[in-house]
Amino acid sequence: MPELPEVEIVKRSLKNKVNHKKIKKIIINNRNLRFKVQKNFANILEGRTVIDILRFSKYIILSFDDLSFCLIHLGMSGTIHLIDNKKNNKITNLSFYHSKILPKKHNHIKIKFPNFMIVYNDPRRFGFFKLFKNKKDLSKYFEKKGPEAISTKFNYKYIKKKLTNKDKNIKNFLLDQNFVSGIGNIYANEILFYCKISPFKLAKKISNKDIFKISKYSKQVLNLAIKYGGSSIRDFKNTKGTSGSFQNEFKVYGRENKNCTTMNCRSKISKIFLSNRSTFFCKLCQK
Ligand SMILES: [Zn+2]
Repeated sequence: MPELPEVEIVKRSLKNKVNHKKIKKIIINNRNLRFKVQKNFANILEGRTVIDILRFSKYIILSFDDLSFCLIHLGMSGTIHLIDNKKNNKITNLSFYHSKILPKKHNHIKIKFPNFMIVYNDPRRFGFFKLFKNKKDLSKYFEKKGPEAISTKFNYKYIKKKLTNKDKNIKNFLLDQNFVSGIGNIYANEILFYCKISPFKLAKKISNKDIFKISKYSKQVLNLAIKYGGSSIRDFKNTKGTSGSFQNEFKVYGRENKNCTTMNCRSKISKIFLSNRSTFFCKLCQK
């Protein structure tokens, strides 16, 4: 499943291609995504020009010339492909998770621009497209979501206020999108290792020093992952066809029974399931 860094890479790829381009035609092959694509979706968007592409957490947001918006969520398996008419219909994968080429099946939405086409593929159909008439409606959609982990709003004061007196463990807190947006399972594991905090520690027992670390390392880990082009857990590649390489930098995720990377720590990385999610940690370093 793409997390914030991978979605950011997709957003940048899309921005390179579709910014300031006008939508010519939209073909919908299957409306049954996580939420049904609205009936007049194509009519509404045809003729509109993309004026910006933004991202909040794991949502890609297309902004249009009439000040409306289209939200895209890739769900578990959504990928965006580009077919370039100018280059003999060369297909480039803007986001791919499962395949390097455009699959024959599950191409649910096609958006045609002059000279190229964007194809949304999603075998598991957990992704979705949602339209908003204006900024007010869009903001309302996000109002209950916590600040992005990489924003300055995710700071000591905010975290302290939220964690005080809470019995929930810190890992589940980091995965709660109403507390902080954009941290998925991979990065929750990594961030807690950098912080040297046990994933099982209850929120109310987190020290002030550790709160500073959570704020600091959340930003550091996610920004580093973006810099590395995301994590290619399966087949994630960017527009140039190169893989993200942050998976080579993982300290704990997927490293069960491997040596802890902390200097002078002789422990091995443990893996257990916590609330049904794989949880990787060093039992000596993370207290
Ligand atoms: Zn260790």
